[in-house]
Amino acid sequence: MSYPNYFEGLGVVEEQGWPQTNKVKYAPKKLGPNDIDIKINVCGVCGSDVHNSAGRWGERHFPMVPGHEVIGHIVKLGPQCSRGLKIGQRVGLGPVILSCENCESCKRGHYGSCPDLVVTYNGKYEDGNVSRGGFASHIRINENYAFEIPENITSEVAAPLLCAGITAFAPLYRNKVQKGSKIGIVGIGGVGHMGVLFGKYFGSKVVAFDVVEAKRAPVLQQLNADNFFNNSEEKQLDEAIKLYKGSLDVLLIASNHINGINWDKFISLMKFGGKIITIAEPPSNEALNIRPFSLIGCSFEASAIGSFEETKTMLDIVSKEQDLKVLVEKSPLSSENLANAFRKMDLGDTRFKIVMTDFDKFFK
Ligand SMILES: [Zn+2]
Ligand SMILES: [Zn+2]
Repeated sequence: MSYPNYFEGLGVVEEQGWPQTNKVKYAPKKLGPNDIDIKINVCGVCGSDVHNSAGRWGERHFPMVPGHEVIGHIVKLGPQCSRGLKIGQRVGLGPVILSCENCESCKRGHYGSCPDLVVTYNGKYEDGNVSRGGFASHIRINENYAFEIPENITSEVAAPLLCAGITAFAPLYRNKVQKGSKIGIVGIGGVGHMGVLFGKYFGSKVVAFDVVEAKRAPVLQQLNADNFFNNSEEKQLDEAIKLYKGSLDVLLIASNHINGINWDKFISLMKFGGKIITIAEPPSNEALNIRPFSLIGCSFEASAIGSFEETKTMLDIVSKEQDLKVLVEKSPLSSENLANAFRKMDLGDTRFKIVMTDFDKFFK
């Protein structure tokens, strides 16, 4: 007997498990008055799924079911749901499924910066219940953390917008990137490629950096970046410096690993008042090693997801902009395909975002 008493998912079940996931069954947390149940159709694979599943971000609560770029249909509404969501309606959710709604961040809609937030998987509710994510048959969340998806965005495109997309969009939008701006993006994978797309949408010049040479053609031709440099090669970095020294308004660091990054060279690209913003979290044993005074004139910060308003704005833009083409590689959900996706993402070798599909065939 499965739903409604049990949900099924693909989870990491033991210490050495990665990248293997097993089909697991678990009881959902008790239905709260404002909770909804979503039957999942698709879920994007995020860099954080790779690091979390591999145990690189610390403790895992087994079985750990990853996935936080989730699209599905509502199949149950708690007795006090009041937003007007309906059974059968398509909704999505990202990496955060609850926040205190009372702190300074929450009051401004930036629920992703709440100190008491609950993340979509491997998180803990106040009562000790563990959250389990989107590579699953169903998920139960508070209705306020579900996003309505505009009709003309397919589920495969909508899913990765809810983590990778908004994480790249928000810092560009907040910093008012526009025509005449110049931005750089380091790491053109799931998140980085969204950065290129939104940067071009805002009318800015986009300079892309990646260590995988095979991405050069698609980044220039499909994503329309203005330039591409292989940052594993000193010569190419020097070429970038020759062309763009002191000129970037924003530099997004979107690579899953930061150990090999030559910070001095990248910092020299920044203009006065420019911002370097990390939007991907590397394994916890990789740390920033920056000489403080090399940052004179520019600043360094981190950003993840965005506010409710920013997310709605992004979804609205994508629904209207025919030219904004998010590039997804679809893969039917299975343990083998998820392991393959994890391996490819860990090597940074995707074009550009992998989304798992066909959940109804896997969870019969
Ligand atoms: Zn994510
Ligand atoms: Zn809060």
